[in-house]
Amino acid sequence: MPQLNRRRFLTLSGAAAAAAGLAGTADLHKAFAAAPAEGQVTTTPTFCEMCFWRCGGIAHVRDGKLWKFEGNPLDPQSQGRLCPRGTAAVGAHYDSDRIRQPLIRVGERGKEQWKAASWDEALAFVAERMGKIKAEHGPESMALFNHGFGQRFIQHMMKSWGAINIAGPSYAQCRGARDVGFQLTFGAGVGSPEPTDIRDTDCLVLIGSHLGENMHNSQVQEFAQAIERRVPVIVVDPRFSVAASKAKYWLPVKPGTDTALLLAWMNLLVTEGRYDRAFVEQWGHGFDKFAAEIKGYTVDWAAEETGVSAALIRAAALEFASHRPATIIHPGRRVNWYGDDAQRSRAVALLNALMGSWGRKGGLFIAAGMKIAPFPLPAYPKSDKPHADGADGVQYPFADEGITTSIRDATLSDKPYPIKGWFVYSTNLMQALPDPRQTLAAIDKLDLLVVCETVPSEIAGYADVILPDTTFLERHDELLVGYGRTGWTSLRQPVVAAPHDQKPSWWIAQQLAQRLGIGACMPFKDMEEYLSYRIEKSGHNWQDFKKQGVIMGPKQPITVETGLALSFDTPSGKVEFWSERLAQAGFDPVPKYKPQEPAPEGHFRLITGRAPVHTFSRTQTNPLLHDLMPDNDVWINTATATRLGLKHRDYVQLKNQDGVLSNRVRVKATQRIREDCVYMVYGFGHANPALKTAYLKGASAGGLNTRYATDPLMGSTSIHSNFVSFVKEA
Ligand code: SF4
Repeated sequence: MPQLNRRRFLTLSGAAAAAAGLAGTADLHKAFAAAPAEGQVTTTPTFCEMCFWRCGGIAHVRDGKLWKFEGNPLDPQSQGRLCPRGTAAVGAHYDSDRIRQPLIRVGERGKEQWKAASWDEALAFVAERMGKIKAEHGPESMALFNHGFGQRFIQHMMKSWGAINIAGPSYAQCRGARDVGFQLTFGAGVGSPEPTDIRDTDCLVLIGSHLGENMHNSQVQEFAQAIERRVPVIVVDPRFSVAASKAKYWLPVKPGTDTALLLAWMNLLVTEGRYDRAFVEQWGHGFDKFAAEIKGYTVDWAAEETGVSAALIRAAALEFASHRPATIIHPGRRVNWYGDDAQRSRAVALLNALMGSWGRKGGLFIAAGMKIAPFPLPAYPKSDKPHADGADGVQYPFADEGITTSIRDATLSDKPYPIKGWFVYSTNLMQALPDPRQTLAAIDKLDLLVVCETVPSEIAGYADVILPDTTFLERHDELLVGYGRTGWTSLRQPVVAAPHDQKPSWWIAQQLAQRLGIGACMPFKDMEEYLSYRIEKSGHNWQDFKKQGVIMGPKQPITVETGLALSFDTPSGKVEFWSERLAQAGFDPVPKYKPQEPAPEGHFRLITGRAPVHTFSRTQTNPLLHDLMPDNDVWINTATATRLGLKHRDYVQLKNQDGVLSNRVRVKATQRIREDCVYMVYGFGHANPALKTAYLKGASAGGLNTRYATDPLMGSTSIHSNFVSFVKEA
């Protein structure tokens, strides 16, 4: 089947899907050939869930069928444009791999033998098993793994029932270490979307952040504008990413040496007085001790350690320091690389502090929010048991959210008490968590595994019950009350009906709550009642909101230049160059460099990242996105490929240090990567045959992540601690 090219996809994606009805990829292809026909078109604003950026869009329905999804010009996240995944949201609705009705397991766990069930049957089954777990072990023994905006009422229902162990991979497998590093330094995390004032910056430093491939819509729009303004960009990455191709300086550091570079940069700037003295004098705490601590990290030492020349390290530092305070050392997002990531993120925060860029125009602004009235809901019951998810800071002193792998560990060890049930909402734990072998071992110990999903991801293959979720285009959700240059509120509302017997997560939560005897926790008839109450109570017009999709909040000062008075919610009330909290907890009060283990003979460090047309492992079956990128490839330096006798586009398998073999994957021989590492986009190599479109296409980086280090500050687990060799195809 010929593949669509990008241009044709962008032009026709909406038109095709409508004509295709509920058909599969072949029919979608046929439909692409047809010009858009006349028809009755209605439009509905809603916000996108193809990733977590949550851009506002306008969905078009023609003759009752979903036609296209475009950006909502009123929305600050999209600014009227969507990224390729948002544009392809129609493909999620028409995806032929979707789960169509509730399923109950009839065979051995993992053998994928199911019986179709009614919702009544499936929910009664779940309620009965949850009730049994509660009676035998307490509600704490039922854990929730969740992700995405649809989790809101599932989480609310679980908490109302007494569950306390709740975690999402978005914390320990993504942004958590960054927020802890910034929290320890400035007294505030970074949050989402990141308050980086790229629009006004004079210099942008990206450390392992491949903006453009990492497609966060409004951030990438501002990045493109910055490139057009000829803003100097400095990229630190072992790979010549798309961002690196736009950069003034590319620093191809040896993987794992970023902290060495950051410390040497800071030492250079402090020693030569190229930092914001006024900011540091007014707001710095423990600066002299910090300066003494980093003194040994010279540029020459960092050159040895990172493999980047001293001249380049120095030139890049002088460049970004010359633009202070309108300089951004980007905090990154998926920062769980080596298991010391909170300290590396703290070094990034400290470098921003030296630049005086916190709360400054062209630096990191202090995001504004808006107030929206809550709907009156009953309080959650209290538990006297300890957390098994690590969210109470006992296991990891600076963890402030649940840790997925802590729940998995507790399930395996029965400590502090047995975990007997998992409710998994919208996250494919088999790809998201490190070492899938441990995840499988934990699942083996469960009395109940409920998976609520749109497509049969790998984790669904092990479920006792599968509850088919709607896509975001088919449901209401909680209000999005967003933070940014101005606060805003967005509405998610149904555009079309679900194609089969899928149900929205709020409905599933409400129905399950009733069967669990806690129906009072969702005391509203439907989401219109819930949402309109919140909006009207806040003084806004519900009907207008439904038409516009967005309400903007009041303007507030977000930088010193716009009247912001800085304050820091730290123990000292200042920016903590030296952290007493870390010292008291037995950690380094100033980040230190700890070298990573070298690759075993004949192996290469596996580093991973994102593609602009896919989100994690969630979008590979979307027919429109599948056409753009059906599989991944493994980047390997051309010289290394030649040495190993590998040719560009050869198929290989990757074998990691523990002997785990990947699926076959194509070689991309390129000079755009260092010789000591290889690179893959995450999320491919699906192993569940029920994912017909994506089954065994590309290789799974998650599957090769069998060895990981855990951040001692907050429990984040590394993804760049594995090494691979090549197995040539016969
Ligand atoms: S960045 Fe793209 S996928 Fe993510 S919410 Fe925005 S349009 Fe959707």
